[in-house]
Amino acid sequence: MKSEIKKQTILIVDDQPTNVQALANLLKKDYRIQVASNGQKALEIARSQDAPDMMLLDIQMPGIDGYEVCRQLKSDPLTSKIRIIFVTGRDSVSDEEKGFKLGAVDYISKPFYPVIVRARVRTHMSLKLKTDLLEQISMLDGLTGIPNRRYFDEQFAKESGRAIREKQPLSVIMMDIDHFKGYNDNYGHGAGDECLQRVARTLAESLTRSADMIARYGGEEFVALLPGTDSAGAMEVAERLRSAVEALGMTHEHSSAAKVVTLSLGVSTLKPPSQEASTLLKRADEALYRAKSDGRNRSVAQKPEQG
Ligand code: GH3
Ligand code: MG
Ligand code: MG
Repeated sequence: MKSEIKKQTILIVDDQPTNVQALANLLKKDYRIQVASNGQKALEIARSQDAPDMMLLDIQMPGIDGYEVCRQLKSDPLTSKIRIIFVTGRDSVSDEEKGFKLGAVDYISKPFYPVIVRARVRTHMSLKLKTDLLEQISMLDGLTGIPNRRYFDEQFAKESGRAIREKQPLSVIMMDIDHFKGYNDNYGHGAGDECLQRVARTLAESLTRSADMIARYGGEEFVALLPGTDSAGAMEVAERLRSAVEALGMTHEHSSAAKVVTLSLGVSTLKPPSQEASTLLKRADEALYRAKSDGRNRSVAQKPEQG
Protein backbone atom coordinates (compact mmCIF):
# COMPACT_ATOMS: atom_id res chain seq x y z
CA MET A 1 0.00 0.00 0.00
CA LYS A 2 1.29 3.43 -0.92
CA SER A 3 1.44 5.80 2.03
CA GLU A 4 1.56 9.49 1.38
CA ILE A 5 2.87 12.05 3.83
CA LYS A 6 1.30 15.47 3.50
CA LYS A 7 3.78 18.10 2.36
CA GLN A 8 4.81 20.57 5.03
CA THR A 9 4.09 24.23 4.31
CA ILE A 10 6.48 27.19 4.10
CA LEU A 11 5.38 30.80 4.05
CA ILE A 12 7.87 33.06 2.25
CA VAL A 13 7.67 36.67 3.41
CA ASP A 14 9.57 39.33 1.47
CA ASP A 15 8.64 42.70 -0.05
CA GLN A 16 10.86 41.98 -3.09
CA PRO A 17 9.04 39.73 -5.58
CA THR A 18 12.33 38.47 -7.04
CA ASN A 19 13.43 37.15 -3.64
CA VAL A 20 10.08 35.44 -3.11
CA GLN A 21 10.30 33.86 -6.55
CA ALA A 22 13.85 32.63 -6.08
CA LEU A 23 13.07 31.00 -2.72
CA ALA A 24 9.81 29.54 -3.99
CA ASN A 25 11.56 27.94 -6.98
CA LEU A 26 14.14 26.47 -4.67
CA LEU A 27 11.67 24.88 -2.28
CA LYS A 28 8.46 24.16 -4.18
CA LYS A 29 9.44 20.62 -5.09
CA ASP A 30 9.61 19.49 -1.48
CA TYR A 31 7.15 21.81 0.30
CA ARG A 32 3.85 23.53 -0.20
CA ILE A 33 4.58 27.25 -0.67
CA GLN A 34 2.64 30.27 0.56
CA VAL A 35 3.77 33.86 -0.08
CA ALA A 36 3.27 37.25 1.55
CA SER A 37 4.72 40.59 0.49
CA ASN A 38 4.39 42.30 3.88
CA GLY A 39 4.28 41.65 7.62
CA GLN A 40 0.55 42.24 8.01
CA LYS A 41 -0.31 39.66 5.36
CA ALA A 42 2.15 37.19 6.93
CA LEU A 43 0.42 37.51 10.31
CA GLU A 44 -2.99 36.99 8.72
CA ILE A 45 -1.90 33.75 7.03
CA ALA A 46 -0.17 32.55 10.20
CA ARG A 47 -3.37 33.04 12.21
CA SER A 48 -5.64 31.41 9.62
CA GLN A 49 -6.78 27.76 9.64
CA ASP A 50 -4.20 27.18 6.88
CA ALA A 51 -1.12 28.19 8.89
CA PRO A 52 2.38 27.22 7.70
CA ASP A 53 4.91 24.99 9.51
CA MET A 54 7.71 27.41 8.79
CA MET A 55 8.23 31.02 7.78
CA LEU A 56 11.18 32.39 5.82
CA LEU A 57 11.01 35.93 7.03
CA ASP A 58 12.63 39.02 5.57
CA ILE A 59 13.59 41.57 8.24
CA GLN A 60 13.48 44.89 6.40
CA MET A 61 9.99 45.47 5.04
CA PRO A 62 7.79 48.56 4.89
CA GLY A 63 5.16 48.58 7.65
CA ILE A 64 5.56 45.81 10.21
CA ASP A 65 9.16 44.56 10.00
CA GLY A 66 10.30 40.95 10.36
CA TYR A 67 11.36 41.31 14.01
CA GLU A 68 7.90 42.55 14.95
CA VAL A 69 6.20 39.76 12.96
CA CYS A 70 8.37 37.23 14.83
CA ARG A 71 7.61 38.81 18.21
CA GLN A 72 3.86 38.72 17.60
CA LEU A 73 3.93 35.11 16.35
CA LYS A 74 5.92 33.89 19.34
CA SER A 75 3.72 35.63 21.91
CA ASP A 76 0.49 33.95 20.72
CA PRO A 77 -0.17 30.22 21.40
CA LEU A 78 -2.04 30.08 18.08
CA THR A 79 1.15 30.80 16.11
CA SER A 80 4.06 30.19 18.51
CA LYS A 81 4.97 26.80 17.01
CA ILE A 82 5.66 28.13 13.53
CA ARG A 83 9.40 27.81 12.91
CA ILE A 84 10.95 31.13 11.90
CA ILE A 85 14.06 31.50 9.76
CA PHE A 86 15.16 35.06 9.08
CA VAL A 87 16.39 35.67 5.53
CA THR A 88 18.13 38.98 5.42
CA GLY A 89 20.74 41.25 3.96
CA ARG A 90 21.84 42.26 7.44
CA ASP A 91 24.47 39.99 8.84
CA SER A 92 25.91 41.64 11.91
CA VAL A 93 26.23 39.47 14.99
CA SER A 94 23.92 41.74 16.97
CA ASP A 95 21.15 41.47 14.34
CA GLU A 96 21.51 37.72 14.41
CA GLU A 97 21.42 37.69 18.21
CA LYS A 98 18.26 39.76 18.19
CA GLY A 99 16.58 37.30 15.83
CA PHE A 100 17.45 34.30 18.02
CA LYS A 101 16.30 36.09 21.16
CA LEU A 102 12.92 36.66 19.54
CA GLY A 103 12.61 32.91 19.01
CA ALA A 104 13.84 32.33 15.44
CA VAL A 105 15.50 28.94 14.84
CA ASP A 106 17.94 30.05 12.17
CA TYR A 107 19.32 32.86 10.09
CA ILE A 108 20.10 32.88 6.37
CA SER A 109 21.98 35.80 4.80
CA LYS A 110 21.28 37.30 1.41
CA PRO A 111 22.52 36.73 -1.20
CA PHE A 112 21.76 33.11 -0.35
CA TYR A 113 23.27 29.86 -1.56
CA PRO A 114 20.58 27.40 -2.71
CA VAL A 115 22.30 24.36 -1.21
CA ILE A 116 22.53 26.02 2.19
CA VAL A 117 18.96 27.27 2.15
CA ARG A 118 17.67 23.81 1.28
CA ALA A 119 19.82 22.10 3.89
CA ARG A 120 18.77 24.41 6.70
CA VAL A 121 15.10 24.28 5.81
CA ARG A 122 15.26 20.49 5.63
CA THR A 123 16.89 20.25 9.07
CA HIS A 124 14.32 22.43 10.79
CA MET A 125 11.36 20.88 8.97
CA SER A 126 12.42 17.38 9.95
CA LEU A 127 12.77 18.47 13.59
CA LYS A 128 9.34 20.08 13.41
CA LEU A 129 7.79 16.89 12.04
CA LYS A 130 9.26 14.81 14.88
CA THR A 131 8.24 17.29 17.56
CA ASP A 132 4.71 17.45 16.12
CA LEU A 133 4.40 13.66 16.13
CA LEU A 134 5.62 13.34 19.72
CA GLU A 135 3.24 16.06 20.76
CA GLN A 136 0.31 14.41 19.02
CA ILE A 137 1.01 11.14 20.84
CA SER A 138 1.29 12.88 24.22
CA MET A 139 -2.02 14.64 23.62
CA LEU A 140 -4.11 11.48 23.24
CA ASP A 141 -5.95 9.74 26.07
CA GLY A 142 -4.62 6.22 26.52
CA LEU A 143 -7.94 4.51 27.27
CA THR A 144 -10.25 6.10 24.70
CA GLY A 145 -7.87 7.29 21.97
CA ILE A 146 -9.50 10.73 21.82
CA PRO A 147 -7.58 13.93 22.74
CA ASN A 148 -6.79 14.40 26.43
CA ARG A 149 -7.12 17.36 28.73
CA ARG A 150 -3.68 18.71 27.89
CA TYR A 151 -4.65 18.94 24.23
CA PHE A 152 -7.96 20.51 25.15
CA ASP A 153 -6.24 23.16 27.28
CA GLU A 154 -3.92 24.02 24.41
CA GLN A 155 -6.78 24.26 21.89
CA PHE A 156 -8.82 26.27 24.34
CA ALA A 157 -6.04 28.86 24.69
CA LYS A 158 -5.75 29.11 20.90
CA GLU A 159 -9.44 29.24 20.13
CA SER A 160 -10.38 31.70 22.86
CA GLY A 161 -7.67 34.06 21.62
CA ARG A 162 -8.93 33.68 18.06
CA ALA A 163 -12.58 34.16 19.10
CA ILE A 164 -11.83 37.42 20.89
CA ARG A 165 -9.66 38.71 18.05
CA GLU A 166 -12.13 37.79 15.31
CA LYS A 167 -15.22 38.70 17.39
CA GLN A 168 -16.66 35.22 16.93
CA PRO A 169 -18.57 33.23 19.55
CA LEU A 170 -16.97 30.18 21.17
CA SER A 171 -18.88 27.51 23.08
CA VAL A 172 -17.86 24.81 25.52
CA ILE A 173 -19.85 21.72 26.54
CA MET A 174 -18.91 19.93 29.76
CA MET A 175 -20.28 16.39 30.07
CA ASP A 176 -20.33 13.81 32.81
CA ILE A 177 -21.68 10.25 32.75
CA ASP A 178 -24.63 9.82 35.11
CA HIS A 179 -24.16 7.49 38.10
CA PHE A 180 -20.98 6.04 36.69
CA LYS A 181 -19.82 4.92 40.10
CA GLY A 182 -22.89 2.67 40.24
CA TYR A 183 -22.01 1.33 36.78
CA ASN A 184 -18.49 0.41 37.87
CA ASP A 185 -19.63 -1.05 41.16
CA ASN A 186 -22.24 -3.30 39.55
CA TYR A 187 -20.75 -4.26 36.18
CA GLY A 188 -17.04 -4.11 37.07
CA HIS A 189 -14.19 -1.77 36.20
CA GLY A 190 -13.52 -3.53 32.88
CA ALA A 191 -17.08 -2.92 31.75
CA GLY A 192 -16.70 0.67 33.00
CA ASP A 193 -13.62 1.11 30.79
CA GLU A 194 -15.49 -0.30 27.80
CA CYS A 195 -18.37 2.04 28.47
CA LEU A 196 -15.98 5.02 28.49
CA GLN A 197 -14.53 3.88 25.16
CA ARG A 198 -17.94 3.56 23.52
CA VAL A 199 -19.11 6.91 24.87
CA ALA A 200 -15.90 8.61 23.65
CA ARG A 201 -16.22 7.11 20.17
CA THR A 202 -19.87 8.07 19.94
CA LEU A 203 -19.19 11.65 21.01
CA ALA A 204 -16.32 12.00 18.53
CA GLU A 205 -18.47 10.59 15.71
CA SER A 206 -21.37 12.89 16.54
CA LEU A 207 -19.42 16.10 15.85
CA THR A 208 -19.84 17.27 12.28
CA ARG A 209 -17.84 20.48 11.87
CA SER A 210 -14.11 20.05 11.30
CA ALA A 211 -13.25 22.84 13.77
CA ASP A 212 -15.18 21.16 16.61
CA MET A 213 -13.22 18.96 18.99
CA ILE A 214 -13.94 16.61 21.86
CA ALA A 215 -11.60 15.52 24.66
CA ARG A 216 -11.62 13.33 27.74
CA TYR A 217 -11.39 15.90 30.51
CA GLY A 218 -10.87 13.40 33.34
CA GLY A 219 -12.41 10.18 34.76
CA GLU A 220 -15.93 10.03 33.27
CA GLU A 221 -15.97 13.65 32.14
CA PHE A 222 -15.71 14.85 28.55
CA VAL A 223 -15.53 18.32 27.06
CA ALA A 224 -16.35 19.73 23.62
CA LEU A 225 -14.94 22.94 22.12
CA LEU A 226 -17.05 24.57 19.39
CA PRO A 227 -15.44 27.57 17.63
CA GLY A 228 -17.78 30.00 15.86
CA THR A 229 -20.81 28.49 17.61
CA ASP A 230 -23.31 30.56 19.59
CA SER A 231 -25.37 29.46 22.56
CA ALA A 232 -28.34 28.16 20.55
CA GLY A 233 -26.08 26.19 18.21
CA ALA A 234 -24.15 24.72 21.15
CA MET A 235 -27.39 23.60 22.83
CA GLU A 236 -28.31 21.80 19.62
CA VAL A 237 -24.95 20.04 19.56
CA ALA A 238 -25.31 19.17 23.27
CA GLU A 239 -28.70 17.58 22.64
CA ARG A 240 -27.29 15.65 19.70
CA LEU A 241 -24.45 14.31 21.87
CA ARG A 242 -26.82 13.49 24.72
CA SER A 243 -29.26 11.57 22.55
CA ALA A 244 -26.46 9.73 20.69
CA VAL A 245 -25.15 8.32 23.98
CA GLU A 246 -28.64 7.47 25.19
CA ALA A 247 -29.32 5.73 21.85
CA LEU A 248 -26.36 3.38 22.44
CA GLY A 249 -28.74 1.65 24.82
CA MET A 250 -26.04 0.45 27.24
CA THR A 251 -27.98 -1.09 30.11
CA HIS A 252 -27.54 0.69 33.45
CA GLU A 253 -29.92 -0.66 36.07
CA HIS A 254 -28.46 1.45 38.85
CA SER A 255 -29.10 4.93 37.47
CA SER A 256 -31.88 7.21 38.68
CA ALA A 257 -31.84 9.01 35.31
CA ALA A 258 -32.71 6.19 32.87
CA LYS A 259 -32.40 2.45 32.29
CA VAL A 260 -29.36 3.08 30.09
CA VAL A 261 -26.06 4.98 30.31
CA THR A 262 -26.70 8.73 29.95
CA LEU A 263 -24.86 12.03 30.12
CA SER A 264 -25.54 15.34 31.82
CA LEU A 265 -24.24 18.36 29.89
CA GLY A 266 -23.49 21.99 30.74
CA VAL A 267 -23.10 24.58 27.97
CA SER A 268 -21.38 27.98 28.13
CA THR A 269 -20.63 30.53 25.42
CA LEU A 270 -18.15 33.35 24.95
CA LYS A 271 -20.05 36.13 23.19
CA PRO A 272 -17.99 38.96 21.71
CA PRO A 273 -17.30 41.69 22.64
CA SER A 274 -17.17 39.96 26.04
CA GLN A 275 -13.64 38.70 26.75
CA GLU A 276 -14.55 36.49 29.69
CA ALA A 277 -12.72 33.41 28.35
CA SER A 278 -11.23 32.57 31.75
CA THR A 279 -14.63 31.83 33.28
CA LEU A 280 -15.99 29.84 30.32
CA LEU A 281 -15.14 26.42 31.79
CA LYS A 282 -16.39 27.36 35.23
CA ARG A 283 -19.70 28.51 33.73
CA ALA A 284 -20.05 25.24 31.79
CA ASP A 285 -19.33 23.36 35.00
CA GLU A 286 -22.02 25.30 36.88
CA ALA A 287 -24.53 24.52 34.13
CA LEU A 288 -23.51 20.85 34.30
CA TYR A 289 -24.10 20.89 38.04
CA ARG A 290 -27.61 22.19 37.42
CA ALA A 291 -28.23 19.48 34.81
CA LYS A 292 -27.33 16.96 37.53
CA SER A 293 -29.55 18.50 40.18
CA ASP A 294 -32.46 18.94 37.74
CA GLY A 295 -32.57 15.16 37.21
CA ARG A 296 -29.58 14.23 34.90
CA ASN A 297 -29.73 13.02 31.25
CA ARG A 298 -30.25 16.59 30.06
CA SER A 299 -28.42 19.68 28.68
CA VAL A 300 -28.46 22.99 30.52
CA ALA A 301 -27.14 26.34 29.24
CA GLN A 302 -25.37 28.87 31.43
CA LYS A 303 -27.62 31.53 32.93
CA PRO A 304 -28.45 34.06 30.18
CA GLU A 305 -27.16 37.15 31.99
CA GLN A 306 -23.60 35.76 32.06
CA GLY A 307 -20.73 36.07 29.61
P1 GH3 B 1 -23.06 11.67 38.94
O1 GH3 B 1 -24.26 11.24 38.16
O2 GH3 B 1 -23.40 12.67 39.97
O3 GH3 B 1 -21.98 12.15 38.02
O4 GH3 B 1 -22.52 10.37 39.71
P2 GH3 B 1 -21.23 9.52 39.38
O5 GH3 B 1 -21.39 8.21 40.10
O6 GH3 B 1 -21.03 9.41 37.91
O7 GH3 B 1 -20.07 10.42 39.94
P3 GH3 B 1 -18.82 10.11 40.83
O8 GH3 B 1 -17.90 11.28 40.60
O9 GH3 B 1 -19.25 9.80 42.23
O10 GH3 B 1 -18.17 8.79 40.25
C1 GH3 B 1 -17.39 8.78 39.09
C2 GH3 B 1 -16.87 7.38 38.90
O11 GH3 B 1 -16.13 7.26 37.68
C3 GH3 B 1 -15.93 6.98 40.01
C4 GH3 B 1 -14.78 6.28 39.29
O12 GH3 B 1 -14.57 5.02 39.80
C5 GH3 B 1 -15.22 6.20 37.83
N1 GH3 B 1 -14.12 6.36 36.91
C6 GH3 B 1 -13.34 7.44 36.71
N2 GH3 B 1 -12.38 7.17 35.77
C7 GH3 B 1 -12.57 5.89 35.37
C8 GH3 B 1 -11.91 5.02 34.45
O13 GH3 B 1 -10.92 5.39 33.77
N3 GH3 B 1 -12.38 3.77 34.29
C9 GH3 B 1 -13.43 3.32 35.01
N4 GH3 B 1 -13.87 2.08 34.79
N5 GH3 B 1 -14.08 4.10 35.90
C10 GH3 B 1 -13.66 5.37 36.10
MG1 MG C 1 -17.71 13.18 37.62
MG1 MG D 1 -20.66 11.15 36.80
